[in-house]
Amino acid sequence: MRLVLLGPPGAGKGTQASAIVKKYNIPHISTGDIFRANIKEGTELGKKAKEYMDKGLLVPDELVVSIVKDRLTKDDCTNGFLLDGFPRTVNQAEALDTELSSMGLKLNKVINIDADSKILIERAIGRRICKECGATYHIKFNPPKVEGKCDKENSPLFQRDDDVEETVATRINVYFEQTQPLIDYYQQKGLILNIDGTKPIDDIFNTIVEALEK
Ligand code: ADP
Ligand code: ADP
Repeated sequence: MRLVLLGPPGAGKGTQASAIVKKYNIPHISTGDIFRANIKEGTELGKKAKEYMDKGLLVPDELVVSIVKDRLTKDDCTNGFLLDGFPRTVNQAEALDTELSSMGLKLNKVINIDADSKILIERAIGRRICKECGATYHIKFNPPKVEGKCDKENSPLFQRDDDVEETVATRINVYFEQTQPLIDYYQQKGLILNIDGTKPIDDIFNTIVEALEK
């Protein structure tokens, strides 16, 4: 199964990604997670990416595309993969197409999760993450069992630096300008699966699985 998750910040891509990759036993490739790991490790890539991420802007295509191309050649991608947060520009989508065709592969589906801006802002601002295992919670909609602690690691939960109102608003605008055109791009290829992101987490997951198995 070769899948792409599309949707504005806070739509629920990462949350659904965790469940989908578990079910289909494929790797979860989140470009946001890759950048955050690089920032944590203090790499050159992390330093460059942080300048853009902190402002809510997209990291330049040339930095992102090479990382994803490289990642797709790893052994664990032979059964497929789930791309989360990539592609985000038409240029990135074209680069992905070129790479996949050179490998003789095609995408199976592009899952497009949507919700309106008011919900997106509330979700992103209340998001908390575990830096140890990457689990995502929400202070109101998906709280951990013990406040401020990861259910699995028991370690403290953090708010992402870019999950503050002003930056979230910028990210949503950037999504409308640069990423939303990808819906048309993939619609023309007959790959889009539209998902209502305002439904409960489990219902969304069930809808996705049903559609993938049709
Ligand atoms: P994205 O990866 O698209 O930015 P996340 O999966 O990180 O979104 O979800 C954003 C926030 O909203 C998280 O705090 C998550 O727990 C919460 N969330 C995700 N899906 C739902 C949902 N269907 N209903 C309510 N809250 C949700
Ligand atoms: P969200 O889940 O809220 O949509 P991500 O974790 O996917 O956010 O991305 C966080 C930030 O990382 C983005 O705002 C952007 O700066 C950078 N980023 C992630 N993926 C890409 C990409 N494919 N192209 C450019 N920038 C990216």
